[in-house]
Amino acid sequence: MNLLKKLLILSFLLTFAFPYQAFAYKVVVDAGHGGSDPGAISKNGLKEKDVNLDIAKKLSDELARRGYEVYMTRSDDRYLSLQQRVELTNSQNADIFVSIHANSHTSSKVNGSMVLYYDDAHPQEDYPASDTMKLLTPYSKDLAQHVQSALAAAAGTADLGLVPSAVYVARMGTIPSILVETAFLSNSGDAALLANDSVRTKMAVGIERGIEAFVPPVFTDTIGHWARDAVLRMKNKGLIEGNGNRYEPQRALTRAEFLTLMDRTFTFSKLKAQCKAGKTGSVTDAVYGCSSNSTTSSASKTYKDLPADHWASDVFTTAKALNLLQGYQDGTIRPDRPITRGEVAVLFNRLLQMKQPAVSQKPVPANPAFNDVPLALWSAKAIYALKNQAIINGITDTEFRPDQSITRAEIAAMMDRYLSK
Ligand SMILES: [Zn+2]
Repeated sequence: MNLLKKLLILSFLLTFAFPYQAFAYKVVVDAGHGGSDPGAISKNGLKEKDVNLDIAKKLSDELARRGYEVYMTRSDDRYLSLQQRVELTNSQNADIFVSIHANSHTSSKVNGSMVLYYDDAHPQEDYPASDTMKLLTPYSKDLAQHVQSALAAAAGTADLGLVPSAVYVARMGTIPSILVETAFLSNSGDAALLANDSVRTKMAVGIERGIEAFVPPVFTDTIGHWARDAVLRMKNKGLIEGNGNRYEPQRALTRAEFLTLMDRTFTFSKLKAQCKAGKTGSVTDAVYGCSSNSTTSSASKTYKDLPADHWASDVFTTAKALNLLQGYQDGTIRPDRPITRGEVAVLFNRLLQMKQPAVSQKPVPANPAFNDVPLALWSAKAIYALKNQAIINGITDTEFRPDQSITRAEIAAMMDRYLSK
């Protein structure tokens, strides 16, 4: 076998062994108790808060070594309420939450490791979970199972299995969450394990292995979102991407993002510039339409707020050559500003016509469906054309809100409707 063949086979194997992942998952490591709250205490005076913190630190080191991003809710001996822990976690845009605890029982005979998670098949009426956590049940359970098996195997503790639970930190968040009860401080054998630094290291290694075996849901922040299916279909087609493992469905789409998505949907390089007569926006709106001085010069030279090294400067140049858009009257193009639903409708509809010039559009209904889109509005024709083709919806049946920023969820849904035709 020649070298080239060997290299080809190697790269083929590597592709399967290490599927492309451009980002590191982020794990929140929560050391239970702390400060004025010692948690459980062993006969010999070993405090749960100290054991938890040490294992949490060891776990964080292991995770960081394996390439994870890590955030610790506490890295010293301080008190945090359960609510603060969940709020801190929610502020992190993380993928996995792991709370570290040690257990206690009235019977000193009970020993072993267990992992708690919220399970919507076992809801507790007085302790309702967040809507997202209900939907995350299969993910939290999967994470719990991986961690439980790996922890018991690594530390040599008795495997007490999974426990569906309504503990606050496991039921109130928005990402797959578990609470690990490493061992019982109330049991002398387990307490000796927890007092042993090398066993605590083994526990941390075991928990890390369990986390590593778990695959978080794609775009965790779209779990339960109305557009999740459309977002995932567009991701699987390679048309959209997120920020790490987050799609940010409710964030306003920027003008640069919009052009990039439209280039991927309509392939600008295959379109020909069109010149359509008609109203092209107001003074304050971006002026879209025919340009008398359309040239092939780069957009960054034309617009004073588009630097040549802007990530989307190429697509602005292509869009400019297609007469898709002109700048604002003050010479700007405002690449990172949100784009409105009305502007999107006009441009999307224009791209549709450029792609399929032969397809005539249904006439606009005499009685417009949207109270806020009178026929005289500059974007009305495009909005109703897209509505007739079931590509765009109103915010409600009677309201379109043309001046509202379009969200990243809404554009994914539009692309999905168009591409599934
Ligand atoms: Zn505890």
